[in-house]
Amino acid sequence: MHAVNDPAHPSPHLGGEPVSPDGYKPSLTRAMPQSRDNDEHPGRPAVGQHPDALERCKPHHEEMTRWRQDLHAHPELGFQETRTAGLVARRLESWGIEVHRGVGKTGVVGVLSAGASSRRVGLRADMDALPVVELNRFAHSSKYHGLMHACGHDGHTTMLLGAAKVLAQTRRFDGTVHFIFQPAEEGLGGAVAMMEDGLFERFPCDSIFGMHNRPSLPVGHFNVKAGAMMASAASWDIHITGYGAHGARPESGIDPILVGAQIVSNLQAIVARNVRPVETAVVSVCQFHAGDAYNVIPQTSRLAGTARAFSAEVMALIETNMRRIAQGVAAAHGATASVDFRNIFSPVINDPNEAEFAAAVCEELVGKERVHRNPPLVMGSEDFAFMLQKVPGCYLNIGNGDHEGGCEVHNPSYDFNDAALPLGAAFFVRAVERKLSLLHAWRGA
Ligand SMILES: [Zn+2]
Ligand SMILES: [Zn+2]
Repeated sequence: MHAVNDPAHPSPHLGGEPVSPDGYKPSLTRAMPQSRDNDEHPGRPAVGQHPDALERCKPHHEEMTRWRQDLHAHPELGFQETRTAGLVARRLESWGIEVHRGVGKTGVVGVLSAGASSRRVGLRADMDALPVVELNRFAHSSKYHGLMHACGHDGHTTMLLGAAKVLAQTRRFDGTVHFIFQPAEEGLGGAVAMMEDGLFERFPCDSIFGMHNRPSLPVGHFNVKAGAMMASAASWDIHITGYGAHGARPESGIDPILVGAQIVSNLQAIVARNVRPVETAVVSVCQFHAGDAYNVIPQTSRLAGTARAFSAEVMALIETNMRRIAQGVAAAHGATASVDFRNIFSPVINDPNEAEFAAAVCEELVGKERVHRNPPLVMGSEDFAFMLQKVPGCYLNIGNGDHEGGCEVHNPSYDFNDAALPLGAAFFVRAVERKLSLLHAWRGA
């Protein structure tokens, strides 16, 4: 929150509804009875109680940058985040936060309560890295060949840690915060693992928030979308069986590579010809494996890839047509094909009220014109979707900007932009302070 009319801290907020100041300006508080952000309190502000959450997070920027770059240098794959989880747990404990380790294998949950309210907010970050060979050559490049934080989860973990530190120091809220550090977001089922381990039974949440960096969005900007925001995802394999032969005698075999190539071409017809043009879907072939020798037509080949859609109906249509094409094309060549189609992620669907709340928090931090409420749909997927099916909440995007290494996520030259760290931390801090506002409790509401 920024101090309205405080010349020492000019507001970045260039429009929109008034927001309340805190204890610095009690007279302004009374002048704004319509404010919905009632966390002001009487008395003098203590050290670290700056009214602007961003200002309270900025002193930690250097430290957060060190944490982030250390995590980047030590990436760990899903469910193997023992070093990362250990660091997270020890830091939370050092700030007086109650820590629960091993929630969903390598997940960590921190519990921080203040006041007497029973209201609870969940904040979630992911911790895992990817099997990517990093091409960056800066000092904090991955120390482990073939492993890389290519999706910025090092930054997500750090932003939530920064928020935890600030909230533990300032405690300007009334209720309980659950800091959820999730393992294995990259397709290995970390969210579900935590939920199957009783995440929301042991740590109930009235609302939940998470965020992902977005490379094409400038630093200081947020995308917040009500409703469907990210696609559902399926992983699929097509196993083709032909008949192995000498490479010089193709007439004696059935070539599973030729069949596979035909299937690759024909799969493109699903999005082009089967999905309604006003719907959105992706079918990508990402693997084609066959053969081991220069002179052997192999017996089998395998295709694998991903499919994305925003509704269960479109995903079912993709599966049906994939089976028809794979089996039909294989039969046309005298081969056989089997399809293994696995729905792994649901679409990310934000609760409209929580999305409106999150957008208002972002506007408070960076101003209305830097918060985009109707961004394009994201074809990527995210297992926070499963948490959003249990608890109303919002997933948002924070700008990763345009800088060295500012290419798309999952690229070997990607790097999280440390300039975004205090902004992300400040979002989490203000989301808590507004959801669990102090005045709400004082009024006995
Ligand atoms: Zn990713
Ligand atoms: Zn990611």
